[in-house]
Amino acid sequence: MSNSKGTALITGASSGIGKVYADRLAKRGYDLILVARDKDRLDALAAKLTADYGVKTDVLKADLTAKPDLLKVEDRLRTDAAITAFINNAGIGGPGPIVGNDPDKLEQVINLNVTALTRLATVAATAFAAREEGLIVNVGSVLGLAPEMFPSNYPATKAYVLVFTQSLAKELAPKHVRVQAVLPGATRTEIWERGGKDINSLPAEILMDVDEMVDASLAGLDLGELVTIPSLPDYGDWEKLNAARLHLAPNLSRNKAAPRYKAAA
Ligand code: NAP
Repeated sequence: MSNSKGTALITGASSGIGKVYADRLAKRGYDLILVARDKDRLDALAAKLTADYGVKTDVLKADLTAKPDLLKVEDRLRTDAAITAFINNAGIGGPGPIVGNDPDKLEQVINLNVTALTRLATVAATAFAAREEGLIVNVGSVLGLAPEMFPSNYPATKAYVLVFTQSLAKELAPKHVRVQAVLPGATRTEIWERGGKDINSLPAEILMDVDEMVDASLAGLDLGELVTIPSLPDYGDWEKLNAARLHLAPNLSRNKAAPRYKAAA
């Protein structure tokens, strides 16, 4: 069965947030292309979603930190004109504090959370812009706004996701392509266990169920938000922060140093 919503390609669909996106988008009538390394899990999910919702599903086994696999997914985004939504979700947690850490471990986080995310979004954005339709969801994290809460370069990769999404949104607005950055707080998924952290050691009041997180993100999308922070009670708080940033803009690049620096010199 094919349907009018087109196809959603979801990275990191084998577990956690990506898996729930797959369920919800199938429910909304999207056919699916599910991407991750664990093919058995993807196959099982694909079969279930086809049975539950009657959508077409395809599975792409790919390690997005391996260039040949990444190119394969880029190629699919570039050439499959049925793709109308791209959920750029695959990510890993941080390797722990920066000082004393193995630079290779920090680089691995950048390879997936920044490099793969950027390359895939670039290809999707180019394809969608040419067709003047489409949706890109980049999964960031609240840690991109609060690096002090989590030692490692992980928050920096997520700050990148936010700024990159803002840049994309500006470029894509005239092309009628929707973009959304989703900034989850702590969410009950395997990412914690994969990073060697016992999820049950987190205070219950900061940990959101993954179904609730994704449902809120899709509600934010439906509300037209560029940036969705599922747990933030007052969206005005985000708008104030953003307004403060924009307030700086006229003074961020001038032909004279600020008087306080001249006085100090
Ligand atoms: P998760 O359950 O561990 O899921 C991560 C997904 O990414 C899995 O499907 C995994 O599948 C895939 N993946 C990992 N490494 C990959 C690689 N090298 N190539 C391809 N796929 C890979 O974690 P999650 O919480 O759902 O994470 C999803 C996104 O949410 C991430 O970007 C994460 O940073 C973000 N996030 C999570 C939280 C949280 O507390 N859970 C909070 C804020 C943001 P395979 O192992 O099968 O490849």
